[in-house]
Amino acid sequence: MADQFTTGPIPSFDQPEPEPREECGVFGVWAPGEEVAKLTYYGLYALQHRGQEAAGISVADGHQIVVFKDLGLVSQVFDEQVLSSLRGHVAVGHCRYSTTGSTTWENAQPTFRTTATGSGLSLGHNGNLVNTAELRDRATALGVTSRNGATTDSDIMTALLAASAADKGLEQAALEVLPTIRGAYCLVFSDESTLYAARDPHGVRPLVLGRLERGWVVASETAALDIVGASFVREVEPGELIAIDTDGLRSSRFASPEPKGCLFEYVYLARPDTSISGRSVHATRVEIGRRLAVEHPVEADLVVPVPESGTPAAIGYAQGSGIPFGTALVKNAYVGRTFIQPSQTIRQLGIRLKLNPLREVIRGKRLIVVDDSVVRGNTQRALVRMLREAGALEVHVRIASPPVQWPCFYGIDFASRAELVANGLDLDGIRRSIGADSLGYVSLEALIAASEQPKTRLCAACFTGEYPIELPDDALIGKHLLEGIEKGVAGSAAPLQPAGYGAEDALRRP
Ligand code: SF4
Repeated sequence: MADQFTTGPIPSFDQPEPEPREECGVFGVWAPGEEVAKLTYYGLYALQHRGQEAAGISVADGHQIVVFKDLGLVSQVFDEQVLSSLRGHVAVGHCRYSTTGSTTWENAQPTFRTTATGSGLSLGHNGNLVNTAELRDRATALGVTSRNGATTDSDIMTALLAASAADKGLEQAALEVLPTIRGAYCLVFSDESTLYAARDPHGVRPLVLGRLERGWVVASETAALDIVGASFVREVEPGELIAIDTDGLRSSRFASPEPKGCLFEYVYLARPDTSISGRSVHATRVEIGRRLAVEHPVEADLVVPVPESGTPAAIGYAQGSGIPFGTALVKNAYVGRTFIQPSQTIRQLGIRLKLNPLREVIRGKRLIVVDDSVVRGNTQRALVRMLREAGALEVHVRIASPPVQWPCFYGIDFASRAELVANGLDLDGIRRSIGADSLGYVSLEALIAASEQPKTRLCAACFTGEYPIELPDDALIGKHLLEGIEKGVAGSAAPLQPAGYGAEDALRRP
């Protein structure tokens, strides 16, 4: 039908939308006799998809901590010379995508503070807090607010830990401070000789413990253990603090676990070769595709993935439907990894910068296109148009997650609620908006079943609006919240309102 792709809001036709973005990856090593900086470098390499704005590594040798960090990809920040100069037996690594505070050198991690007794503390954080304003007030009362220009919830946490550690030591300080922090946090931190890891009581983000022959590793994903040759031991439990030093590994509980793991990690965020809560992410995505084929069948000639995150679900859809799987889109894997700003002429190429169609495969075919999720709908709109221009007879879009209708406050940067295409349109409205012949989303029930996790142990708030960690009514939780406070601009971020946000900063949160 001609009007399927000539009607609907098409403001920037070929512009792909930014993909949902993780906020960070963390990695830690305690391994005397090993090149811990290089191990951390490779660990961060495996976690690069979780944060591509800045990277940093701190190394401690029993006497001092040295932090090296900068804006850029892991491979841009570190070279052989820098890594060789970072000597010690404890390392903390971090790759950042900003969800609180701007993209500045000061906000790159690991953060660093000294205690009143002169010992150091470096910290890497994956997640997002929901009581940052309250923590900031406490830090202000203690006189330990930012002295280094940092404007992140992670810096506030570091300041509170360092302030508390002065008289009781870091381990005891962590056991007292962590229960007062609300939100999503996986922490890897160290002083001069001990590596620590902690996970919030809801365990929203993944964090795993691995074993080296001569030490221990902590990482956001199991894939990062594999790359450094560490064997998987177990997950860091929600509400658990781990300390590793010459006395061995100690585990303490600072809160009762109430698991609410992020369901979207299975859909898109985590690497396919990672396992979360014992379930392979790749296997989950294939199973989602199989269930999608049962829930939304259609006659077609070829099942094609939107590479690469749509590939496992497309394999599953092909298995479930009996329709052949094929490659119709080739991804330019490196184009999103440049810091060179494209000119307007190049920008107008839009999705063509990232994906190129294989015309000889597409021409004359009825296609089922499988993607992981839809946020604003711009990518799918541009894709459908590209496939039609390449000669597709029909384009049926299948999505391996339910409609994203709510923002995430626990560490994922989607878009404002107003920008989410599923928030303003019904299914047929979205189909018309993206110009597809048909559109089907997998159901929430099927997605949860594919993850093999009990529903009660998952967060699915971006699909349901039911937030498992309470969001205070009047919380100020905009991305630039702390910058607003620094400037004395009360309310520079909008108060939290689940619908009808007013300020862009708050909308783009977390
Ligand atoms: S709201 Fe969505 S993206 Fe955020 S933690 Fe929950 S499931 Fe994950």
